[in-house]
Amino acid sequence: MRMRKLCRQNQECPHLRYNDRIATCMRGTYLLLLVSLLAACGGSGTGETPRVDTVLFNGKVVTLDEASTIASVVVIDKGRIQAVGGDDLRSRYSATNSTDLQGRMVMPGFVDSHTHIRGQPKRYIALNDTRSIRELKQLVRDKSAELGPGEWITGYGWSEDVMEESRRPLRGDLDEAAPHNPVYLQRAGGHSAVVNSLGLEIAGIDKATADPDGGVIERDETGELNGLIREPRQLVSQFIPEASDEDVRDSLVGMLKAQLSLGITSLVQAEDTIGHYPEWERIYASHSGDLPRAAVQVAWEGSDVMAQFGRKSGDGDEFLKVGAVKIFVDGGFTGPAAFTKEPYRGESEYRGMLNMSIEALRRIIREAHSAGWQLGIHAIGDAAIELTVDELVDALQALPRPDHRHYLNHFTVMPSADTMDAMAASGIAITQQPNFTYTLEGRYVEYLDGDRLQHNNPLRTPMQHGIHVAISSDILPIGPMTGIYAAVTRKGMSGKVFGADEKLTVNEALRAYTSLGAWLTNEEDRKGTIETGKFADLVVLDQDILNVDPDHIMNINVVQTWLGGKLVYQRE
Ligand SMILES: [Zn+2]
Repeated sequence: MRMRKLCRQNQECPHLRYNDRIATCMRGTYLLLLVSLLAACGGSGTGETPRVDTVLFNGKVVTLDEASTIASVVVIDKGRIQAVGGDDLRSRYSATNSTDLQGRMVMPGFVDSHTHIRGQPKRYIALNDTRSIRELKQLVRDKSAELGPGEWITGYGWSEDVMEESRRPLRGDLDEAAPHNPVYLQRAGGHSAVVNSLGLEIAGIDKATADPDGGVIERDETGELNGLIREPRQLVSQFIPEASDEDVRDSLVGMLKAQLSLGITSLVQAEDTIGHYPEWERIYASHSGDLPRAAVQVAWEGSDVMAQFGRKSGDGDEFLKVGAVKIFVDGGFTGPAAFTKEPYRGESEYRGMLNMSIEALRRIIREAHSAGWQLGIHAIGDAAIELTVDELVDALQALPRPDHRHYLNHFTVMPSADTMDAMAASGIAITQQPNFTYTLEGRYVEYLDGDRLQHNNPLRTPMQHGIHVAISSDILPIGPMTGIYAAVTRKGMSGKVFGADEKLTVNEALRAYTSLGAWLTNEEDRKGTIETGKFADLVVLDQDILNVDPDHIMNINVVQTWLGGKLVYQRE
């Protein structure tokens, strides 16, 4: 019902679009321009084929429009979709670029409505793929040569489990590789780290230093420090200077570009600050059209500070805009700290915890809501969800705001039917991560039971209650195929199915990952489907996801990504 109403208002209406163009024409003062534009609109009837930038033909174009139309040709001009249709459409345009899709499937670009794009400073080394101490030392040596003496070298992700030498890296290894740089390398998981001699010296740690609370500064049989610290917390890292925006910029841009190779043409950065937003503006100003469209969620810093920021949810342009205010109501299941109504499985009391007092939550919701901000709230446990919805509903009753589009950023433990009805009635949406069902299966099995285990990260049930449910990744992992696979199969990593009645069809999952995600940033009239007038944000896949065996969905690759009519990714 809501979608229907929106469609009536949006620019997809051909009548409105025509009027818009005429209005644009009238704004110009040159009659010639008006005449030529009318001709381009097909109004002159001369039979000449209009010139356009690009025609994609011979594809299986899954438009995801309301009628689920399948087309074969997409016509693109000036970054937007000019026309969609059958083979006959091709001869009606003369295109600067014609691309034969060779029968491949095309769909709207993915909208990852909850993700975290992080850049790393130049001093950082990713160690997740390091398979030997020898290799690790070479990486440290190279980094030392790149940075010069004195600079910190940091890294993350090593594990002795996969090292050829079957041991952990030690202080001596790092001293050999970089004697003149302080080095701090965290093990995968972050519960231990290895530090070299210079790093220990800067941190003021020596043989006489006592173990920190809950942690261990390891010593060898002679009592010498071996460089390993267990539960290191801030013991050493507090001495590493904070990286500047400039230092992280190249890496952040690289991460954003990498999204395009996964078919993600729009994303919502789920956690950031108004202080950091100008950096996003700087990045987008110098990479116009090359990076996925982004909306940036920001933390609430009080009414005055937010007002001084001078921007609000939705402000920005086609590529970058301010997203919703982000609030963390509870934790997650990796802690585990999701706030649940019943104790965790096997526990007599522990139910996770709230991240803030109810009063603080109420105050932020009220302030942000009344200042006209959109809210996107992290709530994972059923108790956290119910509490948040109660507060949102109260705020909406006190101050009704049409089209507020407030939403929950997660929805792992299903709340009561009453809460879901209230969400539907108040227009409170969800961006859900079905990939959690797959990647976090072990956690859920450990901490949840019964219905709350079976219905973890529910999809069908909230939709049946009438709630708007979009799908996103929360980077576990980023690639959309894991989420679609899990939404369609409801399988965990072990292959076990959780709550088969929560399954979506592939078509529904694709919509939740495109147009329903675009709705969360108020952009469903511009993106999320392949329809005339929308941004030409498209993805070409190497298999037909609508007809592939669902168990093989995760093997599907993105072959091409088009952003605003530009080919921004081509698979080798
Ligand atoms: Zn997140």
